[in-house]
Amino acid sequence: MRIVLLGPPGAGKGTQAVLLAKAADIPHISTGEMMRAAIAKGSPLGLKVKGFMDRGELVPDSVVIDIIRDRLSQTDCAKGFLLDGFPRTVDQVKSLDQLLKSLNKELTHIVEIKVADQILIERIKKRGAEGSGRSDDTGEVAAKRLQVYWAQTAPVAAYYREQGRLTEVDGLGSIEEVKARLGKVFGLKCLGPAI
Ligand code: AMP
Repeated sequence: MRIVLLGPPGAGKGTQAVLLAKAADIPHISTGEMMRAAIAKGSPLGLKVKGFMDRGELVPDSVVIDIIRDRLSQTDCAKGFLLDGFPRTVDQVKSLDQLLKSLNKELTHIVEIKVADQILIERIKKRGAEGSGRSDDTGEVAAKRLQVYWAQTAPVAAYYREQGRLTEVDGLGSIEEVKARLGKVFGLKCLGPAI
């Protein structure tokens, strides 16, 4: 399976991505995590992206596209992959399509986890208060990330929807409930029955 998992910050996308990738036995590729690791290492990539991430802004397309191109060329991606946090702009969608075409591959699933805005902001704040360890989970930056999501990333889901490629999953409810809904979409019984 070659999966793109979409959803606003606070939708539970990261949590579900880990569970799903494990159940499907494919690498979980999170551009956010890869860049947080680069910042922690103090690598040139980390230095380049830190300011954008601290402000809750998107890192320039060219930087993330390079990261994805490198990552998808690694051998473990031959059996499939789950992209979490990429693509986040319509230009990234187009680059990904081109890249996959050059590899003679196609996405098999594009899924959006949907949660209402008011709930998202509460969830992100709670995550920050509970010590997620993410400096961008605090009030102002969290609100900025949501704003950036609606301006730049919501059009990604709209683009896939128009092409008839998008499956929407309700993100309301417990981790178990959402996981079971995703299990149904992906035909992964080990994720549990749909509720
Ligand atoms: P995430 O862990 O997916 O919530 O991403 C955290 C931050 O990393 C975002 O707020 C952006 O600053 C940056 N980021 C992650 N993925 C991308 C992407 N595909 N395009 C641009 N910026 C990204």
